[in-house]
Amino acid sequence: MKDYTGGCHCGAIRFSFQSDDTAEIWKCNCLICSMSDYDHLFIKHSLFKIITGEKYLKEYVFGTKSAKHFFCKICGIKSFYQPRSHPDAYSINLKCVDSPPEVCKIVNFDGKNFEESIKRI
Ligand SMILES: [Zn+2]
Repeated sequence: MKDYTGGCHCGAIRFSFQSDDTAEIWKCNCLICSMSDYDHLFIKHSLFKIITGEKYLKEYVFGTKSAKHFFCKICGIKSFYQPRSHPDAYSINLKCVDSPPEVCKIVNFDGKNFEESIKRI
């Protein structure tokens, strides 16, 4: 395990987490992930810590409201959020990590058909 840091574009929100130095990421084809071309890196809650900027997090929910999307109130970037697919982890946008772990595998998740796809994971 190595220590990593990341955050939003304006720097108001900063976080740290632990991960292996090679990591699996998910690409999801649902509308909100496609619109932002989000690269999902799932990190257990216990390995993730907000360093600064918690007060700048703006929550957005829709549909089943089980995912909690967190945007920076200042710059609008979603650097991490609570995904529906992994209730015990946050999804960090790999593109928001300073020196990200090397991607060893990309999983293409069919989030457009979430209920069916999640059963196959
Ligand atoms: Zn920001």
